[in-house]
Amino acid sequence: MIIVMKTSATPDEIHHICEKVKELGLTPHVSRGVERTIIGVIGEEEKVRVQPFETYPGVDSVVPILRPYKLASRDFKPEATELEMKDGVVVGGKKVVVMAGPCSVENRDMLFEVAKEVRSGGATFLRGGAFKPRTSPYSFQGLGEEGLKYLREVADQFGLLVVTEVMDTRTVELVSRYADMLQIGARNMQNFDLLKEAGISKKPVLLKRGLSATISELLLSAEYLLSKGNFKVVLCERGIRTFETATRNTVDINAIPVLKHETHLPVIVDPSHGTGKWEYVAPIARAAIAAGADGLMIEVHHKPEEALSDGAQSLLPKKFRQLMNEIRPIAQAVGREL
Ligand code: PEP
Ligand code: MN
Repeated sequence: MIIVMKTSATPDEIHHICEKVKELGLTPHVSRGVERTIIGVIGEEEKVRVQPFETYPGVDSVVPILRPYKLASRDFKPEATELEMKDGVVVGGKKVVVMAGPCSVENRDMLFEVAKEVRSGGATFLRGGAFKPRTSPYSFQGLGEEGLKYLREVADQFGLLVVTEVMDTRTVELVSRYADMLQIGARNMQNFDLLKEAGISKKPVLLKRGLSATISELLLSAEYLLSKGNFKVVLCERGIRTFETATRNTVDINAIPVLKHETHLPVIVDPSHGTGKWEYVAPIARAAIAAGADGLMIEVHHKPEEALSDGAQSLLPKKFRQLMNEIRPIAQAVGREL
């Protein structure tokens, strides 16, 4: 439910409505637009109906949100969410953000090597999995807490933020201790208990689209996080399964403008998992920025042929730097910066 205020509504009238909403045991969420202010109401809609909000001074109308996702929708919050991280990093602001690093944290030295390169290339987040969701149980599963320690130490050394995957409700607290942003991977997009736990944690979350999830399903998963009071959510298009086998997945470029239309949440694109081949990473990264993505997630490895996971889709540091230079004018062409 949203309460649309009149253009002439005074700050006192807006405040009064918020107080009334709270009295009902609900949470108001104020969005101040250029034209008018709207108040999104979180909680049971039934409770809002008993109060005749339409009759209060300053109120223009009370409108139900018809989309299945409520808090994630643009109706609820028309202006784009700008997620403020530490060190002045903003996800969803004018500046495009780049999260880069190896697929997996393999050891301290390699992480140091790759982090140094991505930092000098202009990345603001260091990515790397310590808990890895591998298709085969015989593949490298990640270093666990040891990997988290390396991530924190190395990221701090280079002034980077840490984004890393959490796979299990039991490790949300542990991963939260080391990471600046929790990644919920494609395979766990509909792990509802994990979503609830990450929501409760109030840590920023990067939510990746499931392998065969629709955009609506992605937004409903985001809704789980938001409904627990965690609005610090970034969505990630990482390619979906289609009939095409020439690439690992098919990046749904359409999803970028669709998501931008449907939701206020920032949207980034992962062309590494999206294509599965390093040769295709740069063109799709450029397309993503041109289509309005707020950022990119890129896998980088200094020795891709020796990588313990996803070497084929990892960029050499030199290629990463080149990509960053290619993206800069594209970002500027669409009113962004890098
Ligand atoms: C990853 O980013 O490390 C990863 C496993 O990605 P996805 O969940 O998109 O497959
Ligand atoms: Mn990977």
